[in-house]
Amino acid sequence: MIRVIVWNEYLHEKENQVVASLYPNGIHGAIGAGIAKEDVQVRYATLDMPEHGLSDEVLSETDVLIWWGHRGHNQVSDEIVERVQKRVLQGMGLIVLHSGHFSKIFKKLMGTTCDLKWRAVGEKERLWVVDPSHPIAEGVGQFIELEHEEMYGEHFDIPAPDELVFVSWFEGGEVFRSGCTFRRGQGKIFYFRPGHETYPTYHNQDVLRVISNAVHWAAPKLGAKPVYGHVKEPLEPIKSV
Ligand code: ZN
Repeated sequence: MIRVIVWNEYLHEKENQVVASLYPNGIHGAIGAGIAKEDVQVRYATLDMPEHGLSDEVLSETDVLIWWGHRGHNQVSDEIVERVQKRVLQGMGLIVLHSGHFSKIFKKLMGTTCDLKWRAVGEKERLWVVDPSHPIAEGVGQFIELEHEEMYGEHFDIPAPDELVFVSWFEGGEVFRSGCTFRRGQGKIFYFRPGHETYPTYHNQDVLRVISNAVHWAAPKLGAKPVYGHVKEPLEPIKSV
């Protein structure tokens, strides 16, 4: 069982009629409903909850955290951001969606500005699969086409991703690295671009499939337990000193 938290700032849905009608249960509700399976347990957390719904206890019982934020990035407490970073370094998976590129947690883990170009006129986006054997692209065709999306364009100021799974083309001519993987400590991170709040992107079956694939990819696997610190007793006698 993979234990997932879908975190959403949950602000646009309460203020904008278009967003509210697209996502009556919130963006988090649509994502959660789309990825819940027999082997995936979904819980939700939002900005307005105590500790943003991300207490030590909750995080210690979380395998993968999905993050959607936009207007409320600065309302997220630094203490919680440090807590999430610590859990990622310990092995919790993190999936950062769309405008989460400017979230405190993503910028902290990347170490760069994470800035980009944008334009919100509802143009067509085509996300090309550039790593067809990657598990995050499983079951997707050559590309995913979204009729209406916000444009994000290069340059995207991130460190070179470990793996690039999707590259987006936009009707207006720009391109963007829209599916990127990173490893930090024991944790796996996936950035996935689409998901502007005024479009029905999180009802698209291919988009939900990619997020679901990413959950399975980012979930911690049983690996070797690392050991750190001073090694007082060598495994073999050291004869040269
Ligand atoms: Zn947006």
